[in-house]
Amino acid sequence: MEKHGDLVVKVNPKETSTTCPACGSKMISNGYRKIRCSNCDFEENRGVVTVLNIEKRALEKWEEPYPLRPSAYGGCKPGIDAGNR
Ligand SMILES: [Zn+2]
Repeated sequence: MEKHGDLVVKVNPKETSTTCPACGSKMISNGYRKIRCSNCDFEENRGVVTVLNIEKRALEKWEEPYPLRPSAYGGCKPGIDAGNR
C-alpha cells in the first residue's frame, strides 16, 4: 500500500473519460484535448480526467482514506492501465 507507484488494481475504465472526477456529472468535450463538466465547470485535459477517475475508483476499492489531489498529479503515476484514452 505504501508503494504507490507500483500499485496495480483492475478497475472498470468505462466512462472514466466522460465523468467529472469532482462531482460525478457528465463531461463534455471542450476543444482538442480539453473536457469540461456540464455541472461544476471543472475543466481538464481528457487524459488527466481519465487518470483521476481511474485513480479515484481504485482508491475507492481499497476504501483507504487517501486524499485525491488533482493539482498534485504528475509526480507519481499509479501502475494502472488507463484503458481507453
Ligand atoms: Zn463536475
